[in-house]
Amino acid sequence: MPNGVHHIPLELPWSTPGNVNVYLLEENDGYVMIDCGVDGSEYLKLLEMHLNQLGITFNDIKLLVGTHMHIDHIGLSQRLREFDIPFALYKNSIDYLDEYNDWSIRFKDLIRMAKNEYTPVSFIDDLKSISTPLYAGRLEKPDILLSEGRVKSIKRNLNVVFTPGHDYSEISLYDEKTKIVFSGDHILPRITPFIPVQNENSNLLKEFLDSLDKVDHLDHEIIAPGHGNIISNPHKRIEQMKLHHQRRSERILGFLKNEDLTGWEISNKLFPRDLDSLNLRLAFQETLAHLHLLKSQRRVEKNNKNGVNKWTLIN
Ligand SMILES: [Zn+2]
Repeated sequence: MPNGVHHIPLELPWSTPGNVNVYLLEENDGYVMIDCGVDGSEYLKLLEMHLNQLGITFNDIKLLVGTHMHIDHIGLSQRLREFDIPFALYKNSIDYLDEYNDWSIRFKDLIRMAKNEYTPVSFIDDLKSISTPLYAGRLEKPDILLSEGRVKSIKRNLNVVFTPGHDYSEISLYDEKTKIVFSGDHILPRITPFIPVQNENSNLLKEFLDSLDKVDHLDHEIIAPGHGNIISNPHKRIEQMKLHHQRRSERILGFLKNEDLTGWEISNKLFPRDLDSLNLRLAFQETLAHLHLLKSQRRVEKNNKNGVNKWTLIN
C-alpha cells in the first residue's frame, strides 16, 4: 500500500470470506475509514485493537464511508457513530434502510418471484424463515448522503463512483492522489461477486456490467477490494469478470435450445451440485439476474402459463 494508506483485514464471524478489508486514508487532521466490519462488541474491540497497532484511535477517524449496504461492510457503523464519527453512504441508501434492518422485507419480492418459477415448497419455506442476522446491527439514516464526484467534507480528492450491481447502492471510491480504486465487493480478486434480483423489473447484472466499464475507464493503477488481496492488474481482472458472466449467459441459452424451462429448472442445471439453503438461494437469484439480462437483450422471453413462468429462446 502506498504511504498514508493503511489496510486492516478485519476478522468476520464466518470463514468464507474470513475477513473484510478496512482501509484508512491519512489526512492532516485524522483518517478517513472505508468500511468497518460486522456489528458486535467483540468486533468493535477487534477493530480498536488493529487501529491501536497502527497508533490510531477512534477519535482520529474523521469520516467513515460504507461502500455498500451489506452487514460485513457496515454492520459496525452504528457503534462507531457513538464515537461521533460521521457515517456516509451513497444517497439512494435511504430507500433501503428498512430492507437492511428487516430481512422479511428484503426477501418479500424474491418469495413472490420464486413461486412464479415453480420452486419447491421447501425453498419458499427457507426464504420465509430468513431473519435479520445478529451481526447486522441497526442502521439509521446516514449522517452524509453521497453523490457522484468528490467527497465534500474532506480535503483529500476522493471521488465517489456509483457502481450498482452486487448491491443497489454500491459505490467505488477513487483516490486521485494514490490512483487507487477502493471497489467494495464490486470487483474482487478471486471470485465474482454474487448478483441478486430486486424485483421482476430489475436488471442488476446489466448495471453490474455497466459499472465494470465505468471503473475500467478510470485512470487507476490498483484496485483495493472489500475482500482479499490488492488487484494489481485491474483491467485484466475486469475483463475476466465480464467473460465469466458472458459464459454463464451462453450456458443458459444452451439449456433453452431444446426446451422451455422455469427459472428453478435453469438454476438447477446451472448449479447442479448439492447446495445448502444459502447457496441454493444465491444460485437461484444469480440465475434470475442472468435471465433478466437476457430478456433485456431480447434473447429470451418469459411466458406465464397458469402462474408458472417458462423461459423461451428468441430466435
Ligand atoms: Zn462483502
